[in-house]
Amino acid sequence: MDTILRTHSRLELSHPLRGFADRQSLPSSPKQPRFCGRKPNWTSCKQASAMATTSPLLDLVPETKKENLDFDLPLYDPSKGLTVDLAIVGGGPAGLAVAQQVSEAGLSVCSIDPSPKVIWPNNYGVWVDEFEAMGLLDCIDTSWSGATVYIDEGSKKVLDRPYARVNRKQLKSKMMQKCIMNGVKFHQAKVIKVVHEEMKSLLVCNDGVTIQATVVLDATGFSRCLVQYEKPYNPGYQVAYGILAEVEEHPFDLDKMLFMDWRDSHLKDGSEIKERNSRIPTFLYAMPFSSERIFLEETSLVARPGLRMEDIQERMVARLKHLGIKVKSIEEDERCVIPMGGPLPVLPQRVVGIGGTAGMVHPSTGYMVARTLAAAPIVAKSIVRFLGSDHGLLGRELSAEVWKDLWPIERRRQREFFCFGMDVLLKLDLQGTRGFFDAFFDLEPRYWHGFLSSRLFLPELFFFGLSLFKNASNTSRLEIMAKGTVPLVNMLNNLLQDRD
Ligand SMILES: Cc1cc2nc3c(=O)[nH]c(=O)nc-3n(C[C@H](O)[C@H](O)[C@H](O)COP(=O)(O)OP(=O)(O)OC[C@H]3O[C@@H](n4cnc5c(N)ncnc54)[C@H](O)[C@@H]3O)c2cc1C
Repeated sequence: MDTILRTHSRLELSHPLRGFADRQSLPSSPKQPRFCGRKPNWTSCKQASAMATTSPLLDLVPETKKENLDFDLPLYDPSKGLTVDLAIVGGGPAGLAVAQQVSEAGLSVCSIDPSPKVIWPNNYGVWVDEFEAMGLLDCIDTSWSGATVYIDEGSKKVLDRPYARVNRKQLKSKMMQKCIMNGVKFHQAKVIKVVHEEMKSLLVCNDGVTIQATVVLDATGFSRCLVQYEKPYNPGYQVAYGILAEVEEHPFDLDKMLFMDWRDSHLKDGSEIKERNSRIPTFLYAMPFSSERIFLEETSLVARPGLRMEDIQERMVARLKHLGIKVKSIEEDERCVIPMGGPLPVLPQRVVGIGGTAGMVHPSTGYMVARTLAAAPIVAKSIVRFLGSDHGLLGRELSAEVWKDLWPIERRRQREFFCFGMDVLLKLDLQGTRGFFDAFFDLEPRYWHGFLSSRLFLPELFFFGLSLFKNASNTSRLEIMAKGTVPLVNMLNNLLQDRD
């Protein structure tokens, strides 16, 4: 435990590249360290680059600029000692979406975050139809008419589904404006503890303030601040290194984003790095904004333990060189570490959760923003309904109802299937992964769209699985059977055990 805590504080305080590498070498432990995706500072980047690779690429990483939104925040006044209806810990997309909607119904809401005005750091990508369905097209800054997937040197697929980069400044501004209009109060601090009483909970913050609330929502992302997990937390990890760069030129079509490039011709035959990539492959994801400005991200889809950031960066440098992409400057960089799959939190429990903290990341893809924003109204309505005069529930009873609405049986079964997908992907090497995606993107669009956007449920997911199997080459079928049988049995077992 002590080792884990020490590792955790290194993760927070030291540079993230080292932190993740260190974490990998930890013995498996029932309680894994918690962390968040975060930006490095200048010094840490330099240190990391010196350690990781001799490439000058990382020397171009700029000092992190944290841009603030220009809002006067209505602050929570601790001297009044009021009990708010809902306290939301964490002001990421998940937390603010719920804050906005619960306050719209007239309930009092307090949003607690150490940096409530800072624009979210992550480069979010979504399928346009997902944002369109939520009336969020105004929160997209660039879109592409479709996406490209390179399976290998000889096989390229063009996906006829528009993709977009989220305008995170606009999305956060829009949510904050609505929150402010609806009377949400903000408190700038970190929550360190929650104490539950029968009718309310007390949130203790690191500035000494205690906030009283009838309901507490944990929306702290992957830090999983308050939500409890009782089973060993053993997710897979998506790890990626991304840069928004000015380049001399790049070879990609401006009309398409590059969803996955599994080619490996940038790695020399027989080299150790090629061997590493054959065992645990990484792909390039890219959003070209112009012929000279592009977001490039080398990504390990999922691995357990996660790949080291240095390994990913080394592969990226080799790939960019091979593609003839000369980076002139880097506007921002992104170190992405996303826990995927693993058990759900204890259901139900007194603290309610949403987003990363509540197991909502898609276990086979790492995507979550669209799914969380779509789930926010469900959680908000549930809180409003059960706190309201008709029901007037409190404490554990209320939380149990909200958890039930967030994770109904069909969503739990869907997640179980996605975890099965992740377990298969974890076992596939480069060849197997290529075979999998070759068959996947040849499926009828309703299947692959539905799978990626969490719109397929059992039993349709079984038909999806059968179609995938039917589409696969004989080699892929054998591989999926060999590597998928144990995960399949586990999934069926879990499905049988989980009842309402
Ligand atoms: C680099 C990166 C890129 C990603 N890209 C995509 C993508 O393209 N598409 C996609 O769908 N998903 C993506 N994801 C996955 C996921 O959608 C994001 O992680 C998303 O930000 C999660 O939203 P959230 O609101 O749950 O948590 P977060 O956005 O992590 O927000 C949590 C908030 O809680 C605050 N907080 C933490 N601890 C405390 C505490 N103790 N007290 C008070 N506040 C606290 C944090 O400061 C933060 O503001 C990405 C993730 C990462 C890390």
